[in-house]
Amino acid sequence: MKLDLDRQETGHSDLAICGTLKLGLPDGRPSEAQVEGILEVQNLESRVLVNGSLQAEGLAECGGCLEEFTVRWDVPVEVMVLRDVDSDESEGATLLILQRKGEVNLHDSLRECTILAYPQAPLCKPDCKGLCPGCGIDRNQATCDCSENEIDPRWEGLP
Ligand SMILES: [Zn+2]
Ligand SMILES: [Zn+2]
Repeated sequence: MKLDLDRQETGHSDLAICGTLKLGLPDGRPSEAQVEGILEVQNLESRVLVNGSLQAEGLAECGGCLEEFTVRWDVPVEVMVLRDVDSDESEGATLLILQRKGEVNLHDSLRECTILAYPQAPLCKPDCKGLCPGCGIDRNQATCDCSENEIDPRWEGLP
């Protein structure tokens, strides 16, 4: 996940990305993700643009039934390495790295893109039935006698 500014050819080239990013997300979201894909690098005189899309996957809790499953998501990447290290430019949502030469480590930027793109409450399958709000049973695996809008009588009368 590195870019060598001293060896990077001018103009367009491809950068293959494949590796593991520690995401460290709390609350049942992935602690790490495998990412891979090919990014496009545009090496201009004053800056290097890295963009494209990566595929990420990691282990997460289903937003419906709380079972652990492998979640896959697309990660749009837009990173700019600015060689004018004194610049105070900040270009919209593009992640900015200020570095004149040598190896640029894209790890932190790609980690940030991967976290930003993580979906809200992903489901283990599109038709995950989730947990019963009455008795908490996993409705993918079993059925219960609760009706949709009825509260389990044991909870009734609780403050
Ligand atoms: Zn589920
Ligand atoms: Zn139930």
